[in-house]
Amino acid sequence: MSTFFNERYAGIVPYVPGEQPHDRSYVKLNANETSVPPAPGVRAAANDGLFASLGRYADPAALPFRRAVARRFGIDASWVFAGNGSDEVLAFFFLACFGPHDPVCFPDVTYGFYRTYCDAFGVPCREIPLNDDFTLDVDAFCAAPEHVVIANPNAPTGLRIPPADVARICRAHPHRLVIVDEAYVDFGNPTCAPLVHEFENLVIVQTLSKSRNLAGAHIGFAIARPSLVDDVRKVKMCFNPFNMSAPTMALGIAALDDQSYYDACIARTIEERERTTEELARRGFTVLPSHANFVFATRPDLSAADWADSLRRQGVLCRHYDAPRIADWLRVTVGTHAEMDAFLSCTDTFLAGR
Ligand SMILES: *Cc1c(COP(=O)(O)O)cnc(C)c1O
Repeated sequence: MSTFFNERYAGIVPYVPGEQPHDRSYVKLNANETSVPPAPGVRAAANDGLFASLGRYADPAALPFRRAVARRFGIDASWVFAGNGSDEVLAFFFLACFGPHDPVCFPDVTYGFYRTYCDAFGVPCREIPLNDDFTLDVDAFCAAPEHVVIANPNAPTGLRIPPADVARICRAHPHRLVIVDEAYVDFGNPTCAPLVHEFENLVIVQTLSKSRNLAGAHIGFAIARPSLVDDVRKVKMCFNPFNMSAPTMALGIAALDDQSYYDACIARTIEERERTTEELARRGFTVLPSHANFVFATRPDLSAADWADSLRRQGVLCRHYDAPRIADWLRVTVGTHAEMDAFLSCTDTFLAGR
């Protein structure tokens, strides 16, 4: 640490993303991304017109991209906030809405970034334990006095709650904010986005990193009341007005405008998810019923850390969390048919060598 690092960050633990090693080529199933390219229109969007316009700053309001989101959801662009990935969008909402006197709660097993934001921004937080079967304790979230942040479907479990339960949490305390991170919603789940018209305290956050095959462009957005969107915009304008670049917006618009390509990709992912779940179950694993583009699996007689190490040595990367409650579990991104065959055959090699 340098002598210049401000003491308010003394105990900070940065977020650790799935590793991106370059020592060899891997079947990469550790960050819920995909090896499948984005829609053909995304390539076409990186055209000469875009190239010629790069000398100018992009629209600080990110209106062209927000309009594309608004078209897709049948709302006005004033209901949309946009940023570089849902990570940045979430960060702006945390900065704008939470603070020392506005604590938040989230499940004990969920996306690790929520705690990172709290630590970094000085927001007190409380973890509400998931039930023993990893389902969300909806009643506990209804009763909680803090602002609420949940991922739905949750990560790394892949379990979900129905929109009726989200509505119940919103209704329980209308003065609390309820942020629902829908990073995985497109993998066969109903979005809670229409509920923003009913609940002033609801924020829906989505990303193009997972279901739109665009992690490398890093695009996310939120849907909420225009007054709240405008508050968050003010915070953004104090920090990085031109957060979304022109190329980023152009790629995102093209991706949102080609639904049929992505519908086909998602259908294949769901098919592979179900096949992988069945194949793991046949090998004695317990697999949670996933509603996302990953599966979460365990087998009582083996160490998930050893399983992950063996897979890594064989060239397959998965995500193991050395965290309470889930240290015996492995999160495996659902890739292509060939990638899942490789994962299953390397798992067989691991099982045979024990
Ligand atoms: C991947 C993920 C994100 C981050 O997505 P980006 O848009 O790439 O920043 C947010 N929330 C959850 C639950 C995720 O799994």
